[in-house]
Amino acid sequence: MTKTQASLRPYDVVLVGGGIMSATLGLLLKHLEPTWTIAVYERLPELAGEASDPWNNAGTGHSGLCELNYTAELPDGSIDIGRALTVNEQFQQSRQLWAALVEAGILGKPETFINPVPHMTLVHGKTDVDYLRRRFETLSENALFGSMRFSDDPAVIGEWAPLLAQSRDPGEPIAATRDVTGSDVNFGALSKQIFTYLKSVDVSINPRCEVRGMRRNNDGSWQLRIHQHTDNDRFTHKVDARFVFAGGGGWALKLLQKAGVPEARGYGLLPVSGRFLRCDNPEIIARHDAKVYGKAPVGAPPMSMPHLDTRVIDGERALLFGPYAGTNPKFLKNGSILDAPGSLRPHNIGPLTSMLASNLPLVWLLTKQLTATRKKKLAALREFAPEAVMDDWTMITAGQRAQIVKGEPGRRGVLEFGTEVVAAHDGSIAAVLGASPGASTAPAILLEVLARCFPSYQRYWAPSLRELIPTLGSSLAGDAALARHTTSRTAEILGLTAPLRD
Ligand SMILES: Cc1cc2nc3c(=O)[nH]c(=O)nc-3n(C[C@H](O)[C@H](O)[C@H](O)COP(=O)(O)OP(=O)(O)OC[C@H]3O[C@@H](n4cnc5c(N)ncnc54)[C@H](O)[C@@H]3O)c2cc1C
Repeated sequence: MTKTQASLRPYDVVLVGGGIMSATLGLLLKHLEPTWTIAVYERLPELAGEASDPWNNAGTGHSGLCELNYTAELPDGSIDIGRALTVNEQFQQSRQLWAALVEAGILGKPETFINPVPHMTLVHGKTDVDYLRRRFETLSENALFGSMRFSDDPAVIGEWAPLLAQSRDPGEPIAATRDVTGSDVNFGALSKQIFTYLKSVDVSINPRCEVRGMRRNNDGSWQLRIHQHTDNDRFTHKVDARFVFAGGGGWALKLLQKAGVPEARGYGLLPVSGRFLRCDNPEIIARHDAKVYGKAPVGAPPMSMPHLDTRVIDGERALLFGPYAGTNPKFLKNGSILDAPGSLRPHNIGPLTSMLASNLPLVWLLTKQLTATRKKKLAALREFAPEAVMDDWTMITAGQRAQIVKGEPGRRGVLEFGTEVVAAHDGSIAAVLGASPGASTAPAILLEVLARCFPSYQRYWAPSLRELIPTLGSSLAGDAALARHTTSRTAEILGLTAPLRD
């Protein structure tokens, strides 16, 4: 039987969920307002057990170095690099924050959560080789991409990443770019280290506590109904909070819907589970040190860009290849099969159905991937590593993606691939929806949460935020000297590869 306990003391801030988003927001708020009371409620027994767990994501420190979806080819043949610059700048903010935390002793040795792994892009065929060359020429003019190198010589590509070039048809045009400043990030370890610190400064961390309901108090604060379970017992208690961060990952929308936040109207989610092939064969792992991204099939969304990734998790190296789409109506790996049907509302059914109707190539691709035989899966891997054999690889299920579907005027639904902040008009509750670039750019995303929810504090907080992220307010993309100085400094502190000299 569930017992009901009296309301606990009110908090200034309640962070729902124990992933990288709540960890980062808790850290920022504790730095800015050390006297504010903060509590974290996580439904699982472990923190960072969902999308932030290192085996549930690809660990790419997304910074536009290798992902083709951040650059678009314009009708005149030029390359629009605006999105790549933005993502890179945001990742530089992450690096600055993590460097400040390492220097302060809040995070442990950098190699426990971030490791240098070159980022590469690999393309096949004359048209894509030409596109990659033009993309490289445009990007490498900017100091943030000054370490990028291009080659269409299989011998050079083979030196960069031997698995890519072995036994490849010599008549097939291929090209690659490589940037040695790239990284692999263990977002699970990062989150846990931040939570350990937060606990040491009196943040109340509560695993096995699920937020089941939320309602407004008369004074505009929130009352959360929390269901706690121990090995032998279950309790329900209530907690008041001035500000709630609904950091539930795939369940963030559900939390906003429970709270009746009008700003969440029109949003729906498309669940897609990520499956990867994992290789633990030390001989193969030793021959690959890169995150190599390819091109998504025609009509496919960026989340299906195939990549062959070096992972460094708890000091061990492994290789991942994927993603292969899986089907599952859950919004969290440990969610419920009722997640997708339960999220349907009169205001998001129209956008969801119109999105599916106007994205038939996506529906077709998902169906094709779901029905792909072992042979077809191997063929996709062999586009990257022609000598791969299935015996060296095991299929694993990674995290669950909950891709945003947003209703536009006229109720047309659009599938969004970024990460989006949704906040109530009075700033008392906010959430982050979507996935990529997600965890990599968590600090930039949460600075947006702070700006939207605490506008009157911004001027007063700015100097404290610059202690953590010194370039805040400056443009690295527009200041080559600052970009070089900042990337060199964070590379040194985080044990990453320094930018190459011209
Ligand atoms: C397959 C895949 C690959 C990815 N690859 C990358 C990558 O290479 N690079 C990158 O930067 N990002 C990547 N991402 C995205 C990244 O993993 C996410 O952006 C990030 O982990 C989200 O963090 P979060 O804290 O919002 O969510 P989560 O880590 O999912 O944390 C949310 C937490 O909230 C808890 N929770 C939910 N509801 C409640 C409730 N009601 N009460 C209490 N607790 C609750 C959950 O149990 C969970 O622990 C990938 C994601 C997937 C799925």
